[in-house]
Amino acid sequence: MPTLPLREALRQGRAVRARFGGFRYIRFKDDFQGVPRGTVVAPGGMVWGYPHIGRLLSLEAGLEEHFAGPFQAEEKIDGYNVRIARLGGRPVALTRGGLVCPFTTDRLPDLLPTAIFDAEPERVVCGEVAGPDNPYLEASPPWIGADVALYVFDLMRINRPGFEPRADKHAAVERYDLPAVPFRGRFRPDEAGRAGLRAVSEEVEAAGGEGLVLKEEERPDKRVKYVTGGANIADIAVAAGNMADLPADYYTDRVQRLVLYLMDHGRERTAELDRELGRAFLDGLEEAVRQFRRERHVSRVYRCRFRERANAEAFRRHLAALSDAGVQTRILGLEPEGKDGYWVLRFERIAPRITGILGHLFSGGVFYDP
Ligand code: ATP
Repeated sequence: MPTLPLREALRQGRAVRARFGGFRYIRFKDDFQGVPRGTVVAPGGMVWGYPHIGRLLSLEAGLEEHFAGPFQAEEKIDGYNVRIARLGGRPVALTRGGLVCPFTTDRLPDLLPTAIFDAEPERVVCGEVAGPDNPYLEASPPWIGADVALYVFDLMRINRPGFEPRADKHAAVERYDLPAVPFRGRFRPDEAGRAGLRAVSEEVEAAGGEGLVLKEEERPDKRVKYVTGGANIADIAVAAGNMADLPADYYTDRVQRLVLYLMDHGRERTAELDRELGRAFLDGLEEAVRQFRRERHVSRVYRCRFRERANAEAFRRHLAALSDAGVQTRILGLEPEGKDGYWVLRFERIAPRITGILGHLFSGGVFYDP
């Protein structure tokens, strides 16, 4: 294992101490001297941060450039990233930034068979949690009707950077019945740009999916993501209500990616697509204004289900900590759900800038053009 610049990272505030109940750990807030953001150091061992994945915009050229051999196409699921590992004597779910997520940790028994961590305690399971009842993202794959689901896409190992070989991943998925991300085929770099992979990408797009992650078979660290054109429009539609709270690049990048995707696929623009893009910008913004008129703020409401009330309380504190860091939230309720023993937490996340701008304008304020 590479030596860890832990003391220096702590001294410079690039790593910080955190706790989850009685479990204490250190997390890297930023990339630091070769250690990626999100890396967690705990008494049970160290879990490396999940690395960035480069984005491909031109299939044909990109695949030949990037891959030296066959690769596998997996579906890219639109949710939030978790690394699940047994630390401090029990499996916990870590967010991309290296915080223990009380929500995901609470729901682990619903998300995957946790026997894998008893049999092989050094395993780190990486996956995406997605669904309408998730506490972080408004978007959700259209085929998940309720609650959340886990899609496992990689395995790592405690105290070791990098991904486990593909064969080990498939063996563990089989042995422990892990909920694997959908597999979309195996391709060679020279064939993939043509009909095969493009057709798969179009299928994913038609089903409302986000795109593909392509992983070289022999070198699991070699991977790229390829996002569908439609996913860019969906991102804009979801974000538009928050327009003032996101940088303008968020939107221009997505418009640019959409145009490149269409051209990469040799697709003509249609009147319907033009309208969809326009609607994506306008619907969200209009709804934000309507909400402001009704409620004097712009916000998104989230709901998530917990097995244990104590974990819902821990998540509430987690939200309060985020509020201190500038993400304003307001708890709307914590109630038992029917008779199944679950607890439902409802809260809203306030979009501060658009709320401020609309407040100023609706009270008669003016802006000077920059
Ligand atoms: P970056 O790759 O630069 O970290 P990002 O954090 O903005 O980008 P995305 O653009 O959504 O994230 O793409 C990478 C993320 O996609 C991964 O961190 C992972 O959570 C998610 N993902 C979804 N499906 C897969 C999959 N099949 N394989 C790997 N990652 C996947």
